[in-house]
Amino acid sequence: MSRLRSIPSVESLLQHPDLVRLAERAPRPVIVGAVREALAGVRAALRKGGTAPPVGADELAARARSLAEASLRPSLRPVLNATGIILHTNLGRAPLPEAAVEAVLAVARGYTNLELDLATGSRGSRGAHLEPLLREILGAPAAIAVNNNAAAMLLALNTLAAGREAVVSRGELVEIGGSFRIPEILERAGATLREVGTTNKTHLRDYERAIGPRTGVVLRVHPSNFAIVGFAERVSREDLAALARKKRVPLLEDVGSGALVDLRPYGLPEEPLLREALAEGVPLACASGDKLLGGPQAGILAGTRRLVDACRSNPMARALRLDKLSIAALEATLRLYRDPESLGSAVPTLRMVAEPAASVRARARRVLVALGADRAGRARAEVVPCTAEVGGGAMPLARIPSYAVALTAPRGTIGELARALRMGAEPVLGRIESGRLLLDLRTVDRREVPRLVAALHHALDGERGSG
Ligand SMILES: *Cc1c(COP(=O)(O)O)cnc(C)c1O
Repeated sequence: MSRLRSIPSVESLLQHPDLVRLAERAPRPVIVGAVREALAGVRAALRKGGTAPPVGADELAARARSLAEASLRPSLRPVLNATGIILHTNLGRAPLPEAAVEAVLAVARGYTNLELDLATGSRGSRGAHLEPLLREILGAPAAIAVNNNAAAMLLALNTLAAGREAVVSRGELVEIGGSFRIPEILERAGATLREVGTTNKTHLRDYERAIGPRTGVVLRVHPSNFAIVGFAERVSREDLAALARKKRVPLLEDVGSGALVDLRPYGLPEEPLLREALAEGVPLACASGDKLLGGPQAGILAGTRRLVDACRSNPMARALRLDKLSIAALEATLRLYRDPESLGSAVPTLRMVAEPAASVRARARRVLVALGADRAGRARAEVVPCTAEVGGGAMPLARIPSYAVALTAPRGTIGELARALRMGAEPVLGRIESGRLLLDLRTVDRREVPRLVAALHHALDGERGSG
């Protein structure tokens, strides 16, 4: 108990020069909270064993300072993605094009004409900022954008199939990103799942037999994140669209990644395009805004005027609508698609997909040189070929040749080096492969290289081993 009594008081710790200096940039309640937390930690340790070494005021002030500093840092922060996964859902998927960033800044500070028709001065619709562009780019009679693709699916399924059946192939009952499962979305939309075919084969006659008076929608889903190889068969889009037309039931296709341009010229597999789905007779299609489209989180629903209008007037649309910042970002991103020539440089996701491996290698070499011979030697750093991925549940089989800086931990384990890089002022995410940490430069922009190098200096110099 005497040890407990020897612990400094909150008031005396607050006079410590370190904490007095911190008060210039941190609110007092934050510092007081941190001091209390640091003291509570010591008391708890003493009560448990009583064998903990005595803790001095300097040590306590340092602990309080680092607690206060941690609580001052924003929780959502920029990180450097050196994983080589271009659309990393945990890292926020698509980085926005510069034009989209500027558009967000332009509307964020003040008021906007979000729901105002400037020509007449009367009430306008927020959809009006996007629909003309979407129609033009997708060749669709009508289109709306909502919170994300899951929201687009929920809205379309609820509009078309609440209290009715949704006919889906067993090969397309997929789960995407751990929480988006087609059967669950269907259920929440109020529709009953009517499975047809088998996991590997579904024929047109399977759909034909299932469609009846209770059918609300026929659903076709792009199984983005897996591929069935071998003895497999899927009904073609044209055949399914023709059948749905003949039976007079709506067909909804979830094309997934929202690719708007063909990426096969860059060596990637074919990915369904919204425009193509609509051109091939699909009356309603949806996709994500922040995957291969390269924009903000959003879901796009495009198709015939009748079906899109039905979705638009569903009261659920209000709950799933986009805010002005996302509308600004999506509008600016879509505008870039009017100029296919400059797309490859203007949209970061497409730029990362398209960059030649040799140019990624040159960037990796620059990082290695900037590390300095001494540091690079200690970490046995070298530039190695590796494989990047599209990610985001798109093109699971696509392998993109890339280059990484591979490091070993000079002290401690590779897991500790990875943690030190994650916990730095500028968090860096890499991937561990065969006991080395790989920093894939395909997903690190040229302008981010100095920040990556600074973070590496810090982690390699400050790393303290396992003690
Ligand atoms: C990614 C994906 C979704 C989910 O899209 P979100 O925009 O994340 O809601 C739905 N369907 C398919 C086929 C996808 O690939």
